[in-house]
Amino acid sequence: MHIRSIAAPLLKWFAGNARDLPWRRTRDPYAIWVSEIMLQQTQVKTVIPYWQRWMEQLPDIASLAAAADDSVIKLWEGLGYYSRARNLQKSAKLIGDELGGRFPRDVAGVLALPGVGRYTGGAICSIAYNQPEPIVDGNVARLLARLLGIEQSPKDKAVADRLWSVADDLVKHAVSLQKPRQRNASAFNQAMMELGALVCRPRNPLCGGCPLQGCCTARKENKVETIPALAKRAAATKRRFIGFIINWRGKVFVQRRPSGDVNAGFWEFPNWEVSADAGAAHLAKANLALGQAELLCVIHHSVTRYRNRLEMFLLRVSRKPRLAKLHGEWISLEEIDKFPLTAAHRKVAKRLQT
Ligand code: SF4
Repeated sequence: MHIRSIAAPLLKWFAGNARDLPWRRTRDPYAIWVSEIMLQQTQVKTVIPYWQRWMEQLPDIASLAAAADDSVIKLWEGLGYYSRARNLQKSAKLIGDELGGRFPRDVAGVLALPGVGRYTGGAICSIAYNQPEPIVDGNVARLLARLLGIEQSPKDKAVADRLWSVADDLVKHAVSLQKPRQRNASAFNQAMMELGALVCRPRNPLCGGCPLQGCCTARKENKVETIPALAKRAAATKRRFIGFIINWRGKVFVQRRPSGDVNAGFWEFPNWEVSADAGAAHLAKANLALGQAELLCVIHHSVTRYRNRLEMFLLRVSRKPRLAKLHGEWISLEEIDKFPLTAAHRKVAKRLQT
């Protein structure tokens, strides 16, 4: 079996099984670029409402370039990996300033945009322009590794190089099968991702309904469950934070995370990382009276390999405290919804409002 024999059945399967996703109804490179950046590390069903809201409010490159920073990150609030939103806006400004406002038309130009890597560049050029550029994301890597019976981890450099080379050959072959008005580079790349997402799933793949089962090495050799080999995960690290909602005359204090930090530009309640066994002495950091604090909630959240525990204390104070080391704003509970908050602190705000 030659791997090229998957092209025709895969295209046929995609024609009858592709999900109707909103960004599949357009060929606008801007809209496809936004969808591809949002889809990095994020599930399709999560992305749909974010993408729709974004496209309503920032429908083109010019509107993104001109938008206020806060409104851009507010649109991204809850999606995580916020450097993606900042890079989108940086790129929009660059396109406006240096490319006359026109989205680049070739892969080198697309790859020059901040935040665009090999996968995203290939996805934009193939989907928007039908250029025969390869793509290998997690879904495609798993699908190809199973079809070819590759037992090593797709994260190994030699394996990754091989997968990219196979994907390159396959998309070019798919285009050679193209009839007038067909867009096989776009359809084939999306078909590989779609089959990986819906059928050749990480666990319990639906081999019985797979259009490629006749040419799948892993299925033939009964290795579907062991391919691809999983790379070793970095051990999780626990971290503990203590934070305060300081309530003074119905207003609460929020501060913006500094540039260069994770989640830079987002707002949050004052908080500090403490050692696992730290006691209430940390309240003293904010020059606050210990006796007034009551525990409001404990939020557990994960950021990459960190498992964070955030203990939030509520302090009602009658005199405006002097928060010498903190720089932020006193806002009402109604105003808080307008501020882009980090995911953990948005949960805290919701607890406060209920
Ligand atoms: S037969 Fe199973 S393992 Fe092979 S490509 Fe299809 S779904 Fe994946």
